[in-house]
Amino acid sequence: MQADDKRRGFDMPKNKRYAMVIDARKCVGCMSCMATCKMENAVPFESFRAWVDMEERGAFPNVRRAFLPRQCNHCENAPCISACPTGASYRSDEGVVLVDGNKCIGCGYCAIACPYSARFMNSQKRIADKCNYCAERSNPDEDPACVRSCMGKARMFGDLNDPDSPVHAACTLEPVQVLNPEFGTKPQVFYIGADMSE
Ligand code: SF4
Ligand code: SF4
Repeated sequence: MQADDKRRGFDMPKNKRYAMVIDARKCVGCMSCMATCKMENAVPFESFRAWVDMEERGAFPNVRRAFLPRQCNHCENAPCISACPTGASYRSDEGVVLVDGNKCIGCGYCAIACPYSARFMNSQKRIADKCNYCAERSNPDEDPACVRSCMGKARMFGDLNDPDSPVHAACTLEPVQVLNPEFGTKPQVFYIGADMSE
């Protein structure tokens, strides 16, 4: 395990279940989550841990843009973990899918196995990389960078098992969606009001 991941305490069994909820109705497409994530995690220029999909909807003159913030879904049934030959990719007791940089050999099997294209090979570190909910943050009580920078308050992070957590409240009050449930990966990033029509 990387020391960075330890600092946030993701490997300590505390009966927590970390998750993200994204209210797509509130996303204004500003891309600040993309930019802040890149700065926070020193993501190489050509890669992204977090990004925003954009699509045109409707027909002229009734057109609009639909935004869908994206990242690793921290899948409960993660094919990236099954594909990893060294055990570098793993799921913490708190439900966060992580990469142990000391065990990663840079084979890229996990990136190929991820059906969401949420992983990339870090061109500087030569290991697999992706969202880890900002595990390296020095203050574990702070939200991940994308959540803190979201001007529309579309992104929420927390413990689904904590009734006081914003993600618990959001999942209780609203119907939630996951991306491509047909994949059988059981994503742990939940969406509200996402326009997933083709
Ligand atoms: Fe793995 Fe991809 Fe699921 Fe993230 S989204 S846990 S990288 S399969
Ligand atoms: Fe595992 Fe690293 Fe290979 Fe991905 S690149 S499968 S994390 S060893």
